[in-house]
Amino acid sequence: MTATVIDGKAFAAKVRGKVAEHVARLKSEHGITPGLAVVLVGEDPASQVYVRSKGKQTVEVGMNSYEHRFDADISETELLETIRQLNNDPDVHGILVQLPLPKHLNEDLVINSIDPAKDVDGFHISNVGLLGTGQKSMVPCTPLGCLMMLRDHHGSLSGMDAVVIGRSNIVGKPMAQLLLGDSCTVTIAHSRTKDLAGVVRRADIVVAAVGRPEMVPGDWIKPGATVIDVGINRVDKPEGGTRLVGDCQFDSCAAVAGAITPVPGGVGPMTIACLLANTVTACCRANGLAEPQ
Ligand code: NDP
Repeated sequence: MTATVIDGKAFAAKVRGKVAEHVARLKSEHGITPGLAVVLVGEDPASQVYVRSKGKQTVEVGMNSYEHRFDADISETELLETIRQLNNDPDVHGILVQLPLPKHLNEDLVINSIDPAKDVDGFHISNVGLLGTGQKSMVPCTPLGCLMMLRDHHGSLSGMDAVVIGRSNIVGKPMAQLLLGDSCTVTIAHSRTKDLAGVVRRADIVVAAVGRPEMVPGDWIKPGATVIDVGINRVDKPEGGTRLVGDCQFDSCAAVAGAITPVPGGVGPMTIACLLANTVTACCRANGLAEPQ
């Protein structure tokens, strides 16, 4: 292996440490405790795990965690009313609605009912527009975590060729906007891209956000490139049981890349750390205080 393995777990612990320091200052100097409300609808097991983990880490950094759990058959009206109450609650600085929502609920309507200033996931159409026009916004947590790791590893990203595989609203598109904001030359690839291997081979930075286990082999990677693997895929092990793999073939990619994030232990931990950081940012903005850098 030639690649440096980017330790997302350690980096996320550092980010959480800084968040905890900021929270302690907000409490001692201003008597304010940032609060994050998480709304979970239904019994999706993966969502339940994420929500539990978010709640635990929120409390660990000294913030207040509010959980609102609803049965899968909650009406849209009732859900919108809950969000309206959270929007008006001064103790709640961040609101996150765990996706996906059950089919009968209009996801866009629900997300766009969140006060954009409390939209710590950065999915509200106002935040999407602000990000796209290079203005101060709430930035989606997963791409923000990827950007932080890239900046930490490279310093400046200016002029680098970046390929983002995947064009979802929650990862691919905002990731591309962030890389563009850092002056990369950005290509967004997707399921209709022709010669994906050729496109990826040009890249100094590859961000894979597809959801297909180990789709990207090492011979697609330009020697020395940085590979950020967003994918989280559960696959069966030959000996029974399951394991998590990314969208990239770790061993073959690590053999040619300059740096690579592992799965697990790469992008995943950074996502929740960025959620906590966004909540502190939202709290500071709401109170007219200096934001964490
Ligand atoms: P989506 O399913 O919303 O998007 C997947 C994207 O991949 C689509 O744009 C799709 O293209 C593209 N795609 C599918 N097949 C191919 C292919 N053969 N070649 C090229 N592109 C392809 O997924 P998400 O963006 O929500 O998530 C992507 C992955 O990241 C998942 O594994 C998910 O679990 C993980 N994830 C991890 C997070 C973390 O914290 N680490 C957070 C969020 C997601 P098209 O648009 O043409 O269909």
